[in-house]
Amino acid sequence: MIQADMHMHTWFSTDSEACPCDMADEAVRKGLKTICFTDHFDKDDLEWGEEGIFDVDAYFVEMQKLQEEYAGKLNIRIGIELGLRTYLKDYYEELTKKYPFDFVIGSVHNVPYKKDVEGNILYTDPAAEKLFKDRTDKEAYRLMMETTLENVRTSDCFQTLGHLDYVVRYGKSREKEYSYTDYADIIDEILKLLIEKEKGLEVNSAGLKYGLPFAHPHPDVLKRYRELGGEIITIGADAHKPEHIAYDFGKVEELLKACGFKYYTEFSKQKPVFKQLI
Ligand SMILES: [Zn+2]
Ligand SMILES: [Zn+2]
Repeated sequence: MIQADMHMHTWFSTDSEACPCDMADEAVRKGLKTICFTDHFDKDDLEWGEEGIFDVDAYFVEMQKLQEEYAGKLNIRIGIELGLRTYLKDYYEELTKKYPFDFVIGSVHNVPYKKDVEGNILYTDPAAEKLFKDRTDKEAYRLMMETTLENVRTSDCFQTLGHLDYVVRYGKSREKEYSYTDYADIIDEILKLLIEKEKGLEVNSAGLKYGLPFAHPHPDVLKRYRELGGEIITIGADAHKPEHIAYDFGKVEELLKACGFKYYTEFSKQKPVFKQLI
């Protein structure tokens, strides 16, 4: 059984109202041994009105208190989900050096999608659907993959790449316009770079929660990562509410075994801990 959910949000994220203690209680109830809080830190992201960041000092105070309260019952790790942008490389490196995060997820939540009249690059979140306005799904997915590749190339401040291919959730015809082979040129480069940089790939079960027939990334991508020698797989449900913790982890476990993985990975103090898939 997968006993760690390494991706979840609380009220420190602008899009969640979950109390950290309710998340921890639900994780215990579901039989997990380890969880990692990974609240959103999307610097410069104003897509949803307020900037998607939080007070990291206050976060550590609250989460460290919780770690003490749950000692012996549940391992609580303190992580963060960074919204990568290439020009934020130095800023994020400083942030992740300043605080003792157990685990850093690098996610691409914003793509440069057009220029304004003065030539400034504008960013958008695929969930806001502006990305799809003047593009086919295929063009939008390709732009997202290219942006992800650029970020993986530039940034070194994270341990695992979050929800590769989640853009498919927001396309007009969703997974119908998506297959690994259509983007194999870019996806292979992303996977090779992750392996070369000893970074992990996340299996994010929110794809299933959103009604897609697969978790992110698509099983063909997972198989390819394994084929290329990739071994660091982290698993997260990306829960924003307690009930979504460990969502469909049974399916994820079967999938990982079918793709040839023998281990999944937890992180503590930014170091991988391999757990056998039995
Ligand atoms: Zn995310
Ligand atoms: Zn998330």
